[in-house]
Parts: sequence; structure tokens; C-alpha cells
Amino acid sequence: MPQKPQYLKNAPHEVKKADRFYRSKYWQNRRAWYLRHHPACARCGQAATAVDHFDGNRENNSLDNYQSLCHRCHSRKTYQHDGAFGRIKNPEQKETDEMSGENNGVSITPSDTTTFNPPLRSIYCGGTGDIAAVMNGGQAVTFKAVPTGTRLEFFFQAVKATGTTATNLVGLY
Ligand SMILES: [Zn+2]
Repeated sequence: MPQKPQYLKNAPHEVKKADRFYRSKYWQNRRAWYLRHHPACARCGQAATAVDHFDGNRENNSLDNYQSLCHRCHSRKTYQHDGAFGRIKNPEQKETDEMSGENNGVSITPSDTTTFNPPLRSIYCGGTGDIAAVMNGGQAVTFKAVPTGTRLEFFFQAVKATGTTATNLVGLY
């Protein structure tokens, strides 16, 4: 049996815990309330899509630890905290607000010329095959034989038509 590629290994415990938190009614309600009252991004003034824990600690839910951020500024902050491609740099570190509620999806048509702006946060593979992607850092990477139902949790700039055989791809951002 071939060794599982890194991206198929189970998410670290911290990520699962964070995922549960960000799906909770408690968080959803607070997030919605906060966005209603602070609709503009605290960094650039654009329409905000995320509520961010200012200190990166999702257990600190005092309202003055919140800030509204647009997708772009939030992605930037997540990079700074987590290192490349949204991965957790240090599992000891408290999980940041990586999953704080951008929940839009788009059906991907692989293309050699289109780039995603803002970049996708992850790709869901609906039909097994290869995915020839361009990572957010600009590197071209082919994920070979990605099984149906896999979610690739990286930031992506593009999915190339050349080399992509997987089907029913959905991008999440
Ligand atoms: Zn912004």
C-alpha cells in the first residue's frame, strides 16, 4: 500500500477543535451580530466578510478582541500567523481564526489562463484525478490521483486545464 500523501493525513486535533468552534451556534450568532455592527474591514475599509480574533485566541470572545476583516486582509493575517498555505506553523500555538466563516464556493473550470483573485482557500475534488494547481506562492504543483471527496486545504491561485483530469472541482474562499 503506497504511503498516504501529506495532504490526506488527518487534520491535527487542533484543527478539528477549531472547526467545531467555528461551526457552533455561539460563534455564528456572535459573528453575525458583530458583522452587522462593524460591516467595514478594520484594515482597509472594504466590506468585511470575516470576524477575526484580534489576538489569535479563539477562546478570547470578549467583543473588544474582535475585528471585522475583508477576505483579502483576513487571508493576509492568516498567512502571517500560520505560515505558507494556511497551515498551522506550530501546533502548540493556539489555533487562529483560519476558518472564521468565509463560506462561498465556486465551481472550477480548469483553465491555463485564469487566476483566482482572491485566491481560493481550498479545493474540493468531486471526481478523482490529477489536479494541476498553482499555489498561492506561485509554484505549480500537480496533486496526483486525488480521491473523490478530498478537500485540499491550501491557498490556490489557479487550476490549470493542462494536466488536470479530476472533475467536479469546487473552490472555497
Ligand atoms: Zn481589508
